[in-house]
Amino acid sequence: MNRPFNFSAGPATLPPEVLRQAAEDMLDWRGRGMSVMEMSHRGAEFSSIIEEARNDARELLAVPPEFHILFMQGGGLAENAIVPLNLLGAGSADQPMNFVLTGSWSGKSYKEAQRYGVTHLAASNQASGHSTLPLPESWNLSANAAYVHLCSNETIDGVEFHELPDLRRLGCEAPLVVDCSSHLASRPIDWSRVGLAFGGAQKNVGIAGLTLVFVRDSLLGHALPICPSAFNLKTVADNASMYNTPPTYPIYIAGLVFKWLKAQRHQGLCGLAAVEMRNIEKAKLLYDFIDASGFYQNKVDPSCRSRMNVPFHLQDVSLNEAFLAGANAAGLLQLKGHKSVGGMRASIYNAMPVAGVLALVNYMQEFTKRHG
Ligand SMILES: *Cc1c(COP(=O)(O)O)cnc(C)c1O
Repeated sequence: MNRPFNFSAGPATLPPEVLRQAAEDMLDWRGRGMSVMEMSHRGAEFSSIIEEARNDARELLAVPPEFHILFMQGGGLAENAIVPLNLLGAGSADQPMNFVLTGSWSGKSYKEAQRYGVTHLAASNQASGHSTLPLPESWNLSANAAYVHLCSNETIDGVEFHELPDLRRLGCEAPLVVDCSSHLASRPIDWSRVGLAFGGAQKNVGIAGLTLVFVRDSLLGHALPICPSAFNLKTVADNASMYNTPPTYPIYIAGLVFKWLKAQRHQGLCGLAAVEMRNIEKAKLLYDFIDASGFYQNKVDPSCRSRMNVPFHLQDVSLNEAFLAGANAAGLLQLKGHKSVGGMRASIYNAMPVAGVLALVNYMQEFTKRHG
């Protein structure tokens, strides 16, 4: 079956190989006579599935041993509460949580954190309409920050930190908390700069219902007394993500995606390096075309454009509906931009092949000829 290309920002397109494997396993996983959805999470079958998923994630992302990999629920938004509830208990309840505000998602994190303690806005790109990134050297970090939060890829605004800040070099000893929901596993992570990183699976590594949390061992055990037990990271870690029933099917799908990512080859590279190289090429293809078109526009500063989420506008907004209808007819789905930004957005996650980006550019070119 020739499937259309799906540019949804999330839940998002999955590798066809993963969907085919899931279909094959649907009624009968490896001859056990049951689907993954019907297995006890404590049985040998599911134990092997979660164990492999965890090991493959660790290998793929080169996660050091001092980090726990947790499989949780609640999505990125729940982490906006789970993180303060877990990090503010080390006698740091009156230490400000520092936020770097770069778009919609970091804005939501900042707002939610205010429910649990003192917050401090260390930097913001509001003045540029979320189209730049404030240089770390310019951040106004609190001397006694409890932690520093940033969103490393703003899914709606299309800005991405191509490198994580080195807080130590900025004279800040607080842990860095990273919301990497929408570019998780799109490139390597410099773990030496990270205290805790989280991401929902449904953007780049699977389906909705699973949140991945990577947390340094030294940050566990500092939860506030009111932190729900099921969301206490130490409890989750001590129970290997089995304190309560984990999202079994999404973990299984993420496991298939990790195997798919590990098997990627491109230009002599393999695994995550190959995935990153292909993502760089895909993004360059699309941005170069948009910049040269004179018909479409991306407003983000080239130094911090997201490789995953490419918002763009037609100069003539009256053509928006025609653009989307034509795209659908051409097998290019879910290109409508987020309502807060308008225009279009092409999310070109790991599972979007180069052929999908070429098909989009081809359609955009044709549309220009018809309407330009
Ligand atoms: C999608 C997204 C979220 C929210 O995820 P939910 O699973 O809906 O809670 C948070 N942060 C970023 C960067 C996202 O892209």
